[in-house]
Amino acid sequence: MGVIAMTEKNEKVNFEVHDPNVLAQARAVLDACDSAKEMEEVVLAAVNRNEEWRGKRCINLLAPEAPTSPTVRALLSAEVGIRAAEGHIGNRWFAGTQHIDELEALCIELLKKVFHSRYADHRLMGSMIGNMAVYTALTQPGDVIMSVAQPFGGHSSNLIDGPAGVRGLKIIDVPFDPVELEVDLDLFRKMAPLVRPKVVSLGLSMTLFPFPIQAMREIVSEWGGHIYFDGAHQLGLIAAGFFQDPLAEGATVMTGSAGKTFSGPQSGIIVWNNPDLTIPITNAIFPVLVATHQVNRVAALAVSAAEMLEFGKAYMGQIVRNAQALGAALHQRGIPVLGAHKGYTRTQQVIADVREYGGGNVVAQLLARANIITNKNLIPTDRPEDWDRPSGLRMGTIEVTRLGMREEDMETIADFMVRVLIEKEAPAKVMEDVIEFRKPYQKLYYCFDHGLPE
Ligand SMILES: *Cc1c(COP(=O)(O)O)cnc(C)c1O
Repeated sequence: MGVIAMTEKNEKVNFEVHDPNVLAQARAVLDACDSAKEMEEVVLAAVNRNEEWRGKRCINLLAPEAPTSPTVRALLSAEVGIRAAEGHIGNRWFAGTQHIDELEALCIELLKKVFHSRYADHRLMGSMIGNMAVYTALTQPGDVIMSVAQPFGGHSSNLIDGPAGVRGLKIIDVPFDPVELEVDLDLFRKMAPLVRPKVVSLGLSMTLFPFPIQAMREIVSEWGGHIYFDGAHQLGLIAAGFFQDPLAEGATVMTGSAGKTFSGPQSGIIVWNNPDLTIPITNAIFPVLVATHQVNRVAALAVSAAEMLEFGKAYMGQIVRNAQALGAALHQRGIPVLGAHKGYTRTQQVIADVREYGGGNVVAQLLARANIITNKNLIPTDRPEDWDRPSGLRMGTIEVTRLGMREEDMETIADFMVRVLIEKEAPAKVMEDVIEFRKPYQKLYYCFDHGLPE
């Protein structure tokens, strides 16, 4: 009896959400160190291994990743990053913040310029925090919202297991057409008046085509409902005019990730136009969700906004053309791509249906052994409970574009994937050619440091 109780207790004590083997390995490495200095060295070595591999020898096709320009990356270690500056600009708890005020005001005004908005906030440490700020500002616990389900691309931040759920909201699916990969507007017109959602969230991590924002806004206006556009992925495309402009089309508020297509430091951006929302939104940000908000990151964000003003048109345009070229190249080579009848994509994303090659997880792991980095993704034919073994593979063209690649390079990348998936060539063999192909692409463009690619 006592022994069983002991074992149960031990299991409880040893429970980890992280892979216990990887943690055990790290403990063993630290235990083998003779000094704290050696411990520092093993940390630095891990950072360097990643940089050598992912930074120099891989074709990185993760849709939510973007390489920051040399200046933006350098600013992340700027002196200003050690300063405390909680509060609003010009109204801080601390003295000595005049240059920080100056810098943060520049960031806000640059964001307003980029998004043609009346208001912007620079303090979101992540786009997830933006989601929480919006639900805090626009809803009360128990309210009904509508949001897109995960197999159609919906993101957890707008669903029950994310900020929307934590706020205690009742969440009903926005009807979505699985073939057109767009909101089913006719069905929405019938459903929405029955539940009268306070907020309709359009926040997708798999996002290929525009949304009928204007029509949805007209429908929910009848009961004072809001459209919330979570443009985490599309933010850079929106800034440069390559995707619909949600605020102009009637969205009440837009949030997004600064580190996806926007190509700034990983963090969040929020913009809105209605002055009545300024107090609820900014009160939710400070003092609820952030205090010290990393001023080095704010500096980096400001510079990436300036880069967007100068290079956005060329950079974002090439990202979309590359995504369409990658979609076409894969599809023509026999790997089915979603949205083929609509030109594959209007964003940086390409979604392949890889069921016949073992599903998204198997395929992503296999490609990673050839130094091609992608991720598994639910697609409309999957059930939400298949989240861990979905049929889809998601790819994005942000990094390959910033390295200077163009449409013809997408064909080469498709050829590498065909060798692994269809011709069943050993990934290690394909990897050698991937490394060779990547070698000349080491410089980041579309920034003041290096300008446009030749
Ligand atoms: C990635 C993503 C988020 C979270 O963004 P972070 O910047 O990682 O916090 C929120 N919403 C959607 C739709 C996303 O794709």
